[in-house]
Parts: sequence; structure tokens; C-alpha cells
Amino acid sequence: MSPSFDVFIAGAGPAGAATAISLSAVAPGLRVCLADMGRDASFRVGESVPPLIKRFLDHLGVWPQFTSDQHCPSFRTVSAWGGPELIGNEFFWDVHNTGWRLDRTLFDRMLAREAENHGAVPMAAKIRALRYDEGLWSVDCGEAGIHSARCVVDATGRSALLSRLAGLKPVNYDRLVASVVLFEESGNQDAPGADAALVESFIDGWWYTAATPGGRRIAALMTDTDIVRQLGAARLDSWMEGLGKTRHIGPVIGAARPITLPKLWPAGSRFLEGALPSGMIAVGDAASCFDPLSSQGIIKALRSAIFASYAIADWLSHSDEQGFVKYDALMKREFAAYQQTLHDYYGQEQRWPDSAFWHRRHIRNDTSTFAE
Ligand SMILES: Cc1cc2nc3c(=O)[nH]c(=O)nc-3n(C[C@H](O)[C@H](O)[C@H](O)COP(=O)(O)OP(=O)(O)OC[C@H]3O[C@@H](n4cnc5c(N)ncnc54)[C@H](O)[C@@H]3O)c2cc1C
Repeated sequence: MSPSFDVFIAGAGPAGAATAISLSAVAPGLRVCLADMGRDASFRVGESVPPLIKRFLDHLGVWPQFTSDQHCPSFRTVSAWGGPELIGNEFFWDVHNTGWRLDRTLFDRMLAREAENHGAVPMAAKIRALRYDEGLWSVDCGEAGIHSARCVVDATGRSALLSRLAGLKPVNYDRLVASVVLFEESGNQDAPGADAALVESFIDGWWYTAATPGGRRIAALMTDTDIVRQLGAARLDSWMEGLGKTRHIGPVIGAARPITLPKLWPAGSRFLEGALPSGMIAVGDAASCFDPLSSQGIIKALRSAIFASYAIADWLSHSDEQGFVKYDALMKREFAAYQQTLHDYYGQEQRWPDSAFWHRRHIRNDTSTFAE
């Protein structure tokens, strides 16, 4: 029986869409499906990207499309970390010296549209089950039918659904959670740090805020799942009370009005351990999740998509599994380097040695796994 597709990509976020775009360049003519169940329309998190994003968007051939959307250029990040004063980290020294604050909905939509322009078949489908039989994957998409493919790509983000259906379990390295509120206006533009992605640490974690394109502002309280309960940070009144105690974030938000209740997003570091079965590969957050402090999630998603497309092309064209093996090794090395950098960065904040949040991050934790 001939399969419906050569490659079935589950998830049309940055990782899935970029996999489809890159595949069209490295293996033209493949029949690629890009399936997504649709998103929560309220808002998306993950909006600050460093200047290096240009290199990946150039490689994918979508830089002109990116710049024609109204994302906000940004020239620095600012943080009060390890001390109370704000310190700026200028992108001036970066070879591409402009970072961006993204409209995530526009960004994701642009990539998905480009994937379609490059031949991927879009499908509105919630993947429910998966089966492998005689060299072919069958993907059960509920009402959208059952589709077969020679190769499946898990681009379902943090849920890593396909990998879980194949029996793998992501390992959690901490219990970081974001309690995020969207504000109607962008706040007080004259306050120090208002022009940048702003981070401020406090005894139980850290705060983050950035203006988003369209004149709004997003702010997040980042802490651990057990502490979020103690702080009552899922309730707007206690969230706002915490905001009032910040030295820099509160003044930037100023009189802006919250237009959502705090929404909790899991945000911890995580890595998909173990070998995926033949003909399956995981990209983006499905393969590994980085702490939002790194602002690397989207770049990492694009990078993994590009490398995964090489591995898939080799495998489909001459059954060469070496690409998958190299890809796995690369993912492991990338995650190990990330863990070291993260540990060093959290180590710079030593003001609250008795705080559970900081203590957990000052001991090196390469092996623990936390229940979900
Ligand atoms: C609080 C927070 C702040 C962040 N801030 C930043 C930041 O400033 N900068 C940055 O670079 N990164 C940031 N990130 C990380 C960034 O958002 C992610 O790394 C990025 O979205 C990963 O892209 P992805 O394509 O792998 O997954 P996603 O963007 O999550 O896309 C996954 C897609 O899969 C689809 N899907 C899931 N399950 C199914 C199913 N069963 N069937 C069909 N479709 C399915 C979903 O609808 C979705 O469209 C942040 C993350 C958090 C939690």
C-alpha cells in the first residue's frame, strides 16, 4: 500500500513548520503533511528572540516575510539579577545587532504559511494514536481520518505527544512554572528598562516583562509549582500584590490594565531521553525544553528542525540511519551545554541562600526527574 505521505509532521509551531520548509529544500518532491490541532487563541508565550534568529530565518529563506510583519526590533535585554540595580546587555556587540519582540501569533502563522507555500499539506487534526506496521506509520487523527507515512515528526511542543505514544517519557529537571498576565497597554515607556525584555529576580524566583507588538505588554512571575501555590500566584489579586513589591517590573507596567487572569504555563527544563523508534524524530520543545530565561526556545526549535530535515532526507532517500544517530548526539550535547550555562547563570544570584527556589538551582541537578 502506498502511504498517504512521505513525512507526517505533528504540530505546526515553529519547529514543525521549519521542518517542512527545510525539507522542501533538502529533499524536494516529498509529500509532507503539516498537522495541527489549532491553538488557544487568547495569547502565546515566547516572544523575545536574540539577533541570531536572522541566521536561521535567512537559511529557511523567510527573512523577507519575517521583516514584513510588524515585530518590534529590540537592541538589548535588561536585568536586575545578582543585585538590585538594572544592568543592560546590549546587542550592539552581536554581529546581527537587532533582537526582536515577536507577535507570536503572526510569527507562527507566517512560518506555517511558508511551509504550505513550499508544498506541505496543512491539516486541521488532533493526533490521538499512532501505530507502526511493516515500515509504515499510521497516524490516527480522529475526525480527520487515519493517515500513513514513512516518517513521522514529533513537533507537538512540550506535550511530546508522539514520543509518548511511542513509549518515551521526557525527563524534567525542575518544576519551573510561569504565571503570565497580558496587559492592555504597554505601560510606562519612560521607566528604566521599558524598551527591552526586562528580568528581575526576587526571593522566590524571577519576574519578566516585555512590550509586545500591537501596544500590549506581557508579564510573568516565574517560580516553582509548589511555590506558586504558596504565593497564590494563580490569582490576580495576589499576583498584582507580588508585582507591587518589585523594584523595576511594577514601575514599567505602571497603570496598564490586566486583560487576562494569570495563566499558568509549565516552563521547566526537560529532555526527551531514550531512542525513538525507526522513522520517528522529535524537534523543538518535543525534543527538549529550555528555561525561558535563556530566550533560546524558538532558535533551538528552528535549529533542530533544520538538522532533523537533513536526517529525514538521508533516511528516506537511501535508508541511511546515521543522520538520526548524529541528530540524537547533537541534541544531547546541546542540552548538556545548556544545563551548564543555566547553572552558571542562576549561580550569579546569591542574595537568598535560604530560599528553596534558589537553593534548588545552586545545586547541580543533572539527573533528577520530577513527576508531572
Ligand atoms: C513562559 C514561557 C516563556 C517563553 N519565552 C520565550 C522567549 O522569550 N523566547 C523564546 O525563544 N522562547 C520562549 N519560550 C519557549 C518557546 O515558546 C518554545 O520553545 C517554542 O514555542 C517551541 O516551539 P515548538 O514548535 O517546538 O512548540 P510549540 O510552539 O508549542 O508548537 C507545538 C504545536 O503542536 C500542536 N500540537 C500539540 N499537540 C497536538 C496534537 N495532539 N495534535 C495536533 N497538534 C498538536 C500545538 O497546537 C502547537 O501548534 C517560552 C516558553 C514559556 C513557557
